[in-house]
Order: sequence, then C-alpha cells, then structure tokens
Amino acid sequence: MQTPVQIIKGQNISKNTGKKPAAVTDKIKRSDLMPFRYTSFNDYLREKFAARVYRVPIDAGFTCPNRDGTRASGGCTFCDDRGSGAPTIDQVLSVKEQLHTGIERIRRRFKAEKFLAYFQAFTNTYAPEAVLRSLYDVSLDHEDVVGICVGTRPDCLDDSVLELLAQYQQKTFVFLEVGLQSAHNKTLDLINRAHSKEEFFDAVERARKKNLAVATHLIFGLPGETRKDMMETVRQIANIGLTAIKIHQLCVYKHTPMAVDFAQGRLPLLEEDEYVLLVCDALEMLPPDMVVMRLVAEGTREEIIAPDWCFEKSRIMDKIDQELARRGTRQGSRFKPKN
Ligand code: SF4
Repeated sequence: MQTPVQIIKGQNISKNTGKKPAAVTDKIKRSDLMPFRYTSFNDYLREKFAARVYRVPIDAGFTCPNRDGTRASGGCTFCDDRGSGAPTIDQVLSVKEQLHTGIERIRRRFKAEKFLAYFQAFTNTYAPEAVLRSLYDVSLDHEDVVGICVGTRPDCLDDSVLELLAQYQQKTFVFLEVGLQSAHNKTLDLINRAHSKEEFFDAVERARKKNLAVATHLIFGLPGETRKDMMETVRQIANIGLTAIKIHQLCVYKHTPMAVDFAQGRLPLLEEDEYVLLVCDALEMLPPDMVVMRLVAEGTREEIIAPDWCFEKSRIMDKIDQELARRGTRQGSRFKPKN
C-alpha cells in the first residue's frame, strides 16, 4: 500500500516516513503549492484585511523627473509612454472616475470585496505636498478603499514626502513601492534610470525609520547583466527590511528606446527556462516572510514586442512552482540573515 502523503507547509514530505515521495511531486498542482512555496501578496492582504483585496491601478497625471529633464530626459529605456502603468488605465478619466470604474471592473471579475488605490503610472510622489494630499484623499473617499499603494523613485522620497506618507499611515494602510531594477550602477546608467543604488538604499532606510511598508521592483535580464549580477542584486536587497518584492523578466515594450535596440539586434533577452531558474534561485535567497507581489510581467501583444513567452504567465508560474518542488526548496531556503 502507498504511504499516505500530507503536504506540510514549505515541504512535501510523507507524514509517516518524513521522506519526500518521488511519485507525488509530479501530481502536485500549482494551487497546492502556491501558499507554501512563497509568501504571496494575496495571502498577505487576505490575512491583513480578512477579505479579498485587489489593487486598482491609477494614473493620477504625474510625470517623472527622468522624463521632464529634472534628472534626465527620455525615461528609463524600458519604460513606455504610459509610465509603466497598467493597460487597463483610462488616462482621460479623473482619479475618482478611474477608481470607481476600476473597482466595478475588478469587483465583477474577481469578486473583490475591498480595494487599494494603486498610484502606479509614472512617479507618484513627484508633486507639491498639497497636490499629493488632494490626490491621495480623493482615492480614499470610497467606502471599500482600505488603503493606498504609491509607486515612485528613490530620488522623489525626501523626508517631507516620507513624513506625509507616515501621516496617512496613521489613518489607513500605506504601501510604498520604490523601483530599483538592479543594484549595479553601471546597469542603472545603461538603462537611464538617473538614480544610483545608493539613493535607493538611503530612501528605503529612511522609509523604514518611519515604519512604512516598502516594496521594490527588480528586472531580470537587463542589458549586460549576468546571472551573478542579478543574484548580487537579490543578495543586496534581501536584508534591508523590505516588506515585499516584484520580480519581472525584461520585456520589450513598443515605442521605447529598448525597442530600437531590440530591432537592431543589440538586446539579447532571457529564455523562458533561464528566467524560471533565476527566479527560483532568487526566491531561495530572499527572507521567507518577504511578500512576493509578482514573479512574471504580463502584457498584451498590443504593447509588448518580445519575448514571446511574456504572454504565458500561468505557464511560467507553473514552471517556477514545479522547479521549486523538484528542488525541494521554497522562499528563504538559502536566506542568510545579517548578523
Ligand atoms: S522612473 Fe518609472 S516612470 Fe520614470 S521613466 Fe523610469 S520607469 Fe518610467
């Protein structure tokens, strides 16, 4: 008779023998593994709010110091004219209208109960304090909105902005997303980020002193980066008190400087399986409780040129789960806490 198997948190081992049953791993579906192999954002929000909580992406009309000439012009070489905002955003609508239509769409589609206003497009702390206040206030003026997520750059987080966000945190949930992409200044220069890794680490440290929950974004497959470079970035951000992380593969968006490089054959892209292995390696190095917001960028053929596997998010997610199961590891398996 076959040994009964119970999936125990973080492992798939026999309750009776304590050994990993080889025949079983093949039969495990992603839905079985999802809660265990890494700490998902959905689970984090469900635990915090005891409800199905979804983010509603918003374009509040900000620009970016990397586009308007303050820091640089042209923007990051991967960023399109939506400023990394979601394709579902209708920029013509006011913040209030975007929020209300987004809530109804997401409520219908996902049976969502509560919402976070996600200031996603461009740099959402890049305006005078009074403007920020009025935009954040409008977004919170809805009975089912339980907080705000604010995406920004490290150079747009001076102490007064952090103090403002800390004040909002007294009355609502605040989640700050600070883009990094790579912890190598040579790469940041190459992709025209127009900020340094030192500015990122300084901003995160000051935000943490205000007890703000901070997430960051990394991109794997940036030009010139090796596996070692990418893992070094992961190592550097693993111990700085981040609450959450998003990891994306490099996708080439239409109408970007990278689209030109790609068309001219100057931009090699990661293969799908290469990316899966990188993500698994990264997850193992991250703290077990760091919330994983995203592991694969998704988009449509209307906006993305390459790679083709960008359009197969669920297949990539399955492969990540299967690879972790094959290794018998999970998020945090190789995490080294700072002494
Ligand atoms: S900082 Fe953000 S909004 Fe600005 S150019 Fe880069 S990706 Fe786009």
